Amino acid sequence: MTDIAAILTRIERAMAQETERGRVADYIPELGTVDPARFGIAAAMADGRVISAGDATLPFSIQSVSKVFALSLALGRLGDACWARVGREPSGDPFNSIVQLEADDGIPRNPLINAGAIVVSDILLAGRTPESAVTAILDFVRRAAEDEGIGIDTAVATSESDTGFRNRALAHFMRAAGNLDHDPEETLAVYFRQCAIAMSCEQLARAGRIFAFAGHTGPGSDALITPARARRINALMLTCGHYDGSGEFAFEVGLPGKSGVGGGILAIAPGKASVAVWSPGLNAVGNSRLGTMALEMLARETGWSVFGGV
Ligand code: GLN
Repeated sequence: MTDIAAILTRIERAMAQETERGRVADYIPELGTVDPARFGIAAAMADGRVISAGDATLPFSIQSVSKVFALSLALGRLGDACWARVGREPSGDPFNSIVQLEADDGIPRNPLINAGAIVVSDILLAGRTPESAVTAILDFVRRAAEDEGIGIDTAVATSESDTGFRNRALAHFMRAAGNLDHDPEETLAVYFRQCAIAMSCEQLARAGRIFAFAGHTGPGSDALITPARARRINALMLTCGHYDGSGEFAFEVGLPGKSGVGGGILAIAPGKASVAVWSPGLNAVGNSRLGTMALEMLARETGWSVFGGV
């Protein structure tokens, strides 16, 4: 049997030796204050164990990793009608790109880039206040992680709201194109706060179990999403979860994954484990540099790549 605890410890030791740790995101000023030396990794296994190494119990800003949970909830609410407002194709462009929106009449390429996630926030806002939409997202994440202690880092949310001009441009353009139903400020109030959810690697790995285990948090639990939705969200994570780095991530790691500019990555080994890794320094396309390296090592040592082989 693969000894995951030993593998995670080896990964953590190897990453501690790395001197080139990438660049911490500072376009959201509050994120720029995070210590680049941090590294944590956790795996939530099919048998219910959560195994971890490094700074795996320290909360960090999950940022765009939140997009897969918000999408799960929106698909539960609106079903396949969501796909009239957001596509399912990789963008091949940066996460905050504006360029495709005009050519595509305000329909974002997929729900995991910023424009697509803002549409998802707008779907979740229907019939609700921004506060209750945020509460719905937070409740969903708490249920998935089975942890009521998960919350929002309001300093990060305020910092992003104060400086989020590019996301405002995306939202206003989509409103003009008829693809947002609400005042862009209200939709962004949901989006900025969902991105500011703070979780540790252990909490995030537990929340990701719904994607690894066909909607379930563990054996015998009720499903939070249908198996078909879990499968499809995994497909989107594989093709779009790392923006213009998605091809490289599939090539090197071979697992559905979702990254965030806080330095977190959620990676799904279907049927085997949900893995969360955190290292705040980012590579050139805005994905955690050491997080990606750690997952490459994990995939090699476990043989968990969805493409087989080792
Ligand atoms: N909140 C961030 C933004 O909108 C999320 C981006 C990310 O994590 N890639 O810029």
